[in-house]
Amino acid sequence: MTSPSANITSVLKETRSFPPSAEFVANAHISGMEAYRELWQRSKDDPTGFWAEQAETLTWFEKWHTVLEWNEPHAKWFVGGKLNACYNCVDRHVLAGRGNQAALLFEGEPGDTRVLTYNDLLREVSQFANVLKNQGIQAGDVVTIYMPMIPEAVVAMLACARIGAMHSVVFGGFSAEAVADRNNDAKSKLIITADGGWRRGKVIPLKQNVDLALSKSPTVQTCIVYNRCNTSVEMVAGRDFWWHELAAAASTDCPAEPFDSEHPLFVLYTSGSTGKPKGILHTTAGYLLGASRTHHWVFDLKPTDTYWCTADIGWITGHSYVVYGPLANGATQVIYEGAPNQPREDRFWEIIAKYRVSIFYTAPTAIRAFIKWGDQWPKAHDLSSLRVLGTVGEPINPEAWIWYHTLIGGGRCPIVDTWWQTETGAIMIAPTPGAIATKPGSATMPVPGIHAEIVDRQGNPVGANEGGLLVIKHPWPSMLRTIFGDDARYREQYWSQIPGAYFTADGARRDDDGYIWIMGRVDDVLNVSGHRLSTMEVESALVQHPKVAEAAVVGRPDDLKGEAIACFVTLVSGEQPTEELKKELREHVVKEIGALARPDDIRFAELLPKTRSGKIMRRLLRDIAAGRESKGDTTTLEDFSVMAKLRESDE
Ligand code: ATP
Ligand code: MG
Repeated sequence: MTSPSANITSVLKETRSFPPSAEFVANAHISGMEAYRELWQRSKDDPTGFWAEQAETLTWFEKWHTVLEWNEPHAKWFVGGKLNACYNCVDRHVLAGRGNQAALLFEGEPGDTRVLTYNDLLREVSQFANVLKNQGIQAGDVVTIYMPMIPEAVVAMLACARIGAMHSVVFGGFSAEAVADRNNDAKSKLIITADGGWRRGKVIPLKQNVDLALSKSPTVQTCIVYNRCNTSVEMVAGRDFWWHELAAAASTDCPAEPFDSEHPLFVLYTSGSTGKPKGILHTTAGYLLGASRTHHWVFDLKPTDTYWCTADIGWITGHSYVVYGPLANGATQVIYEGAPNQPREDRFWEIIAKYRVSIFYTAPTAIRAFIKWGDQWPKAHDLSSLRVLGTVGEPINPEAWIWYHTLIGGGRCPIVDTWWQTETGAIMIAPTPGAIATKPGSATMPVPGIHAEIVDRQGNPVGANEGGLLVIKHPWPSMLRTIFGDDARYREQYWSQIPGAYFTADGARRDDDGYIWIMGRVDDVLNVSGHRLSTMEVESALVQHPKVAEAAVVGRPDDLKGEAIACFVTLVSGEQPTEELKKELREHVVKEIGALARPDDIRFAELLPKTRSGKIMRRLLRDIAAGRESKGDTTTLEDFSVMAKLRESDE
């Protein structure tokens, strides 16, 4: 960042507000604004006392003696305590008599289904933990998991946790190259994969990718292959083993071992939206506590709920809100293997109706695709079981929010817009839905225990409605402990930018009611004629236009203005790109937010460059707008052909 000022001019005018119903408030875990404020204030006044109380919700083998040891930037939480993350997610529910409750309701893409109860999960996880032990895996070793979204992926993660091995999950959509990079960076010893996984009616050849990856990642000595698709794969003698054969020979008895609170639980790479992915290290107690408490507060989970988070386990959302959070809380949840448009564009709505899903958590990129596909798909299904909706990953434009609220939520479900990062481990800013009235596009307020502030470069709080840098003021249990193998970068990136605070690299503002609005990445902020504008706000104005499905806005160097505003726009199904429409969109933005934000370039695109986790990669669009080659890391780009097409589509 070169600009001396961190302040960002806010142009978004969004004033709608949606309070929860009286019935929702009456039944919520955090019931009413007073209750939220009290809990949050308590956590601010006495953070360690607050977290010590919260930690009683976990099951410990040995209690801690010190809640927090903080030597900036290094935190140790619950020092002296011993626990097992897997035990907290599985065994304790069985011991409490809930063994017959469904844990995972699995729906494969081809339509096959399975139900795993907590009893089943305990048996499968224990057996697979023994498989890993039999292969020589010990506490502290790193195991790569490269699997489709099937129950065995969850089993593999929990089996690692059970024996204290760190997992490094690599999203099943990544290439052999990306798997090899992550194997090498984490010095992984063993990889767990499947022959393939189903995606849009085709088999993704996971094992084939692993074969390629292993030729470039010598630390991996063993490969365990789950037979998901019955495709023929090459098995290298002495290196590759079938999951079912090893499992058949392993005992189902594997008591969970106690590990230190700070025992490493996993390493996970960030999405690579802003640069080369970083290997984020999380440890056991603090992470598990953050994931489980936020899951409890923000999704308001009750024993009668059926919960579904659509994230892949390859992302932090899958770690915290498919595996550790919901399972620690004893949830019954759906997991789905495949694409949202297989066999048709209503697969998600069909699943919600079929399982009577009550809590649904997805990403803006998915919501924008649903809008593009048309209202007829959700309208054809009974979505009346839903009571809470969530979103994560990118800012959600108010128009997409309203669509989600109306078409999916039937106007009755609070939307929890959850802001957080791979690094934060758990949700940081989101409405506790029985307390905080929602506003479209705002993540609202920090969860209890989180002290978020918006500051300038020097760390001074900025005023209401002034955009600034989002920071977190006090260490929190689920924070990252370091970047794997690069502690210097950890210090530099997160703890050296703003005095005494964790730097998120996101911009935000607080409105007059104290609501936080995430304005996007600090690196994406536009500098137009001396005004720093948030790209997200210009994008929100564009997608408000009924013909626009998705928009990405970036700056292009301009002699006069400093930066010109370049917009990349995709249209809803059936709309044609015309010069007339470009003019209309320019006028629309001017009308919505003023002449300052008048787009200089508008390009129509079929698709935008996104990470494999579905986030728009604005840094690549900046290169295209400026007419230069992209030099940065593109390993997490979803589809390379998008870049070529965009380069052809001159303004
Ligand atoms: P990299 O750090 O490698 O560039 P990334 O930041 O996209 O990738 P993640 O940890 O997956 O990797 O994403 C965290 C980021 O996603 C946040 O810093 C923020 O910019 C964005 N984000 C997540 N949730 C929200 C949300 N609810 N509203 C706005 N932005 C969000
Ligand atoms: Mg990031």
